[in-house]
Amino acid sequence: MFDKDTITQLGGWTGYRVSELDYRPGEGSMGRGKLIIRLEPASKAMRCSRCGHISHTLHETTLRRIRDLPILDWDVELIVPRRRLWCEHCNGPHLEELDWLGAHRRVTRRLEQAIGRLARMMPIKQVAAFYDIGWHTVKAIDKYMLNQQLPDIDWHNIHYLGMDEFALHKGQRYATIIVEPVRRQVLWVGEGNSRKTVRRFFESLDPEHRARIRAVVMDMNAAFDLEVRAHCPNAEVVYDLFHVAAKYGREVIDRVRIDEANRLRHDRQARRVVKSARWLLLRNRENLSHPAQQARLDELLSANETLMAAYVLKEDLKQLWRFTDEHQARLHWAGWYRRAMESGIEPLMRFARRLVPYVEGIIAHCRHPLHTSVLEGINNKIKVIKRMAYGFRDMEYFFLKIRAAFPGNLR
Ligand SMILES: [Zn+2]
Repeated sequence: MFDKDTITQLGGWTGYRVSELDYRPGEGSMGRGKLIIRLEPASKAMRCSRCGHISHTLHETTLRRIRDLPILDWDVELIVPRRRLWCEHCNGPHLEELDWLGAHRRVTRRLEQAIGRLARMMPIKQVAAFYDIGWHTVKAIDKYMLNQQLPDIDWHNIHYLGMDEFALHKGQRYATIIVEPVRRQVLWVGEGNSRKTVRRFFESLDPEHRARIRAVVMDMNAAFDLEVRAHCPNAEVVYDLFHVAAKYGREVIDRVRIDEANRLRHDRQARRVVKSARWLLLRNRENLSHPAQQARLDELLSANETLMAAYVLKEDLKQLWRFTDEHQARLHWAGWYRRAMESGIEPLMRFARRLVPYVEGIIAHCRHPLHTSVLEGINNKIKVIKRMAYGFRDMEYFFLKIRAAFPGNLR
């Protein structure tokens, strides 16, 4: 047990000291004891929370119960005489300014910070149990802290945007996320994935900010490109590799695999090999960590000409994003398109034809080497936040958490 002076020093409640200690073993949370600390002002001087001037005129005092961080193994509850002063400068009554307790807050600033940090790592329920504070209070504190800590967006230095959507509820509802892809800052999150959603974002920007945007990287399936063209007069649309490669996997590789399995229905063993190779075929070769997996893939491809062609053309298509020289990129595209059309593989030819309107946006990658891999990382983080932040009942809170998780890594 500690005496009043020790606790006063330990507590660091600037301008206040302990007047009374009440130890209650076993009454705290998580097996801790509870320590009720009655504070008293150490001085008659008070700082006006409105203007910062010092006053000695007390207007009124109200006792408040305030939670603080636990001290060693004791939960701490403060009883604080919250003072209102009469300020000569403002000519009115105002709350005393304290550096350790915000106006009208029920927990100290350092407990707010501790709750905010913990709430980034675990669900509200656990944080609430850990500090023995109500669920709604913890959530309100976390939301308040997130709002406080969110960095300003430096629109003068934002020239690139990345856009993507993510599923909100079992893929029936979507949200759109807009990032600065170079410094990994989430700029905006909004419900919906339509042109109208993106329009809300652009309409929230000043025309001069929109004029500064040079390129926007996105999935070629999105309808966002039309909004970019309508609102950003100097921006080019760039289609990113990841989405195109994923689409190729679904529409070409997988289709060819199923067609081949059907064609081989009289050869049961060959059919089974092709049918079971989905995972192997959709993976990037460089991600096949085991030599046996690479060997199996090589064996499969050399035994099946059509699969081999579809696979090789996928790798070649991906090369298109490696060029920095536009002319070279166009030559590569022309060669790729010709080989795709000469392959005789129907899903591949269909895919190649559908890609034609997007070629300019792929070639734009030579001038603006952007990609949405940062969005992949963000999407994984969103899944974690979704599980932890109790989903979508408070969309504003959920989006706030996403923005706070990616504040940007360049100053
Ligand atoms: Zn004042």
